[in-house]
Amino acid sequence: MYDCIVIGAGVAGASVARRFADAKKSVLVIDKRDHVGGNVYECYSNNGIRIHKYGPHIFHTNFKEVLDFLTRFCEFYDYRHKVQGLIDGYLVPIPFNFTSLETLYSPQKAEEIKKKLKENFSTPKVSILDLLSHSDKTIKEFGEFVYEKVFVHYTAKQWGIPIEQVDKSVINRVPVVLSYEDGYFHDEYQCMPKYGFTDMIDKMLDDENITVKLNKNAQDSFSFKEDGIYYEGEKVDCPIVYTGAIDELLDYRFGVLPYRSLNLVFEDMDIPAFQPASVVNFPNSEDFTRITEFKHLTLQESPVTTILKEYPAKYDVNGKIGNIPYYSIENAENRAIHDKYREYLTKYPNFYLLGRLAEYKYYNIDVSVKRALELSDELL
Ligand SMILES: Cc1cc2nc3c(=O)[nH]c(=O)nc-3n(C[C@H](O)[C@H](O)[C@H](O)COP(=O)(O)OP(=O)(O)OC[C@H]3O[C@@H](n4cnc5c(N)ncnc54)[C@H](O)[C@@H]3O)c2cc1C
Repeated sequence: MYDCIVIGAGVAGASVARRFADAKKSVLVIDKRDHVGGNVYECYSNNGIRIHKYGPHIFHTNFKEVLDFLTRFCEFYDYRHKVQGLIDGYLVPIPFNFTSLETLYSPQKAEEIKKKLKENFSTPKVSILDLLSHSDKTIKEFGEFVYEKVFVHYTAKQWGIPIEQVDKSVINRVPVVLSYEDGYFHDEYQCMPKYGFTDMIDKMLDDENITVKLNKNAQDSFSFKEDGIYYEGEKVDCPIVYTGAIDELLDYRFGVLPYRSLNLVFEDMDIPAFQPASVVNFPNSEDFTRITEFKHLTLQESPVTTILKEYPAKYDVNGKIGNIPYYSIENAENRAIHDKYREYLTKYPNFYLLGRLAEYKYYNIDVSVKRALELSDELL
């Protein structure tokens, strides 16, 4: 058969496949979609603008080995991602920084807050939770202001539950920046593939040792029997790397793993530009969370533009909208369900879970690739 079977042609699956192919091992990659790339897939809107079909994706990493690996399959251009948020009628940098502070407070009050922050923190960025629990009254009040204006409503909109019920790790993903630094990410390497992520994945999978089969759902072709895993009726002895949702594959036998989904609404416009930044967040108004204008990400020149509004949605695998599992809802209860699946799978030592869906964890692109490279090296 093959030396390895990979289910899912996203960045994680494609990285494993390529690592095996580099070692002259044969790999079968299957994906249930009609394209490779998983969630980083890019295509063109009706007016010819390159868009990210499953939401905006920006590459950033501190892992040089990940950048080196990906550079084999694409040329990167430098790109520093900037996000603005509409707060009290002003567009201010997000993460909230000193410019945001000076825009929303009087000059005198802004100076007082900045002085206190500099005296009390030596790090360039802090958690909103540290501001909220601070013993200094000025810092605490500032924390409460930012929490209310930036976090509370945006988080509730995004997750469909009050912020108090959202895991603290999720809230901590966006810091408060104690300087004028206005980049969204703070990683050492921030760049985008010149011809897009799909082109990069295509090149990764372009090897004589890799066979890609699209429109093929693992649920239809794999069965878990007492003596092992079967693919299209044949027992599989090689490693099987699975990057999809594990509850779905195993018919939800240990319960449903909840996700938050999105309704992504693209709008083509006959104007050269719509907004000043790649992404504008709407923490306190509108039903959507943010608008992305793709030209700012891809640097495409065109007299027209395409924007994307992201409406958070309840995940329903059979629904007309919200049928894609975007964000795992990480908490102790859901992790316990995931643990049951993992426990069951120990019966099948050649079956490996990899990536944001299979491991039920939010991973950025770089971490997905890093984990894929580590798993491949272990298997090889
Ligand atoms: C809205 C959004 C925005 C994001 N933005 C960023 C960003 O800006 N920067 C960043 O670094 N990261 C970002 N991420 C994270 C990024 O999407 C992931 O790190 C990355 O896509 C994970 O790759 P993966 O291969 O693990 O999963 P996926 O890309 O989801 O790939 C899994 C693949 O498996 C296939 N599959 C699933 N089940 C089956 C099955 N049963 N049979 C066959 N095939 C199957 C799917 O069709 C899919 O192609 C974002 C995530 C989301 C949700």
